Amino acid sequence: MVKRSIYLDHASATPVDPRVLKVMLPYFTHWYANPASLYSIARKVKTDVEKARSVVAGSINARPEEIIFTAGGTEANNLALFGVAQALRNRGNHVITSQIEHQSILSPCKVLEKQGFKVTYIGVDQFGLVNPKEIERAITPETILVSIMLANNEIGTIQPLTDIGKITRRHKVYFHTDASQCLGLLPVDVQGLKLDLLTLNSGKIYGPKGVGALYVRRGTQIRPSILGGSQEMGLRAGTSNVPGIIGFAKACELATKDQEKEQKRLSNLRDKLITEILKIPGSRLNGHATERLANNINVSFSGIESEALLFYLDTSGIYASAGSACHTSTISPSHVLLAIGLSPELAQGSLRFTLGRSTKSQDIAYVSQVLSTTIDKLRSVSQER
Ligand SMILES: *Cc1c(COP(=O)(O)O)cnc(C)c1O
Repeated sequence: MVKRSIYLDHASATPVDPRVLKVMLPYFTHWYANPASLYSIARKVKTDVEKARSVVAGSINARPEEIIFTAGGTEANNLALFGVAQALRNRGNHVITSQIEHQSILSPCKVLEKQGFKVTYIGVDQFGLVNPKEIERAITPETILVSIMLANNEIGTIQPLTDIGKITRRHKVYFHTDASQCLGLLPVDVQGLKLDLLTLNSGKIYGPKGVGALYVRRGTQIRPSILGGSQEMGLRAGTSNVPGIIGFAKACELATKDQEKEQKRLSNLRDKLITEILKIPGSRLNGHATERLANNINVSFSGIESEALLFYLDTSGIYASAGSACHTSTISPSHVLLAIGLSPELAQGSLRFTLGRSTKSQDIAYVSQVLSTTIDKLRSVSQER
């Protein structure tokens, strides 16, 4: 059999779309001028950066001046939390988030706690859903910010942001969401969701890595966390990553243009693969059956170590991830899987497959067949021991 190569880890990184790369290239070697300079070629670069800002804004129903380009999702999340906390520290010292956020939310929250802020980490149900009523109950006169991710990067659960947005609006509390995984997989509308801040991430949507943006609703009080020049409305100093920004905007354009079609195609493939995988004895689906990112499958297998399983899948040309890539260098089980109630043992036997533009329907049969025979093999070996 010809060795295949099936990449199913699009939640950790996506290939740069050739159409994205093509529009980026001239900005490395030809249009390299600093957009802050005053001569004509720099003004052309500045104009193109501003066009890119409009495209990114358009993809989430925002205004161009509400888009702050950053060096990725981590930086945008840090800016949202530290920026709002600093600006409003005299008004209140309470932040609400969830237990299943990305580390780039949870780690800044830990620092805020050391700085004297109180942080409430809302739990989730067995499917990974936050209950909006619990958020409302947690709000106090001290609350300045609620940060709840739009969709979880490990288990794919999509949160009821519309309901949360109504609550934060009513209580006049800022509302931030990390939408790093979402563009191209579901509609994202900052007006409909009543958001004040939103994180975007180029590297997860077929754009270059190391670029992203924070949407900051006009009038939102926020302080910069990287200081220097006056770029990005004074909120993010540093010479603009022009090729990155141009590529990111193209990625946003492509993602939103094809969103409906791709969401349908991928959720169809996702559900087929889930059905096949659940035929394997001792398997279970993690996350929500329907409130789920179109490309996400997270499953646990009893009595299996995911590292061993990943190794054998790799030898068959299948590239997946154990829970979340961020956890692979440590042995501790995923905080997300623990939060939905999995035992540490079952959490250690969990795999995440995230489909993408290259995923074809033939891949589904191959992956489920390899998975099933590999698990049989691993289980019979562990029984012999
Ligand atoms: C990948 C990811 C991030 C971090 O983005 P970087 O580009 O690595 O900085 C943040 N949040 C979520 C949900 C992600 O999936």
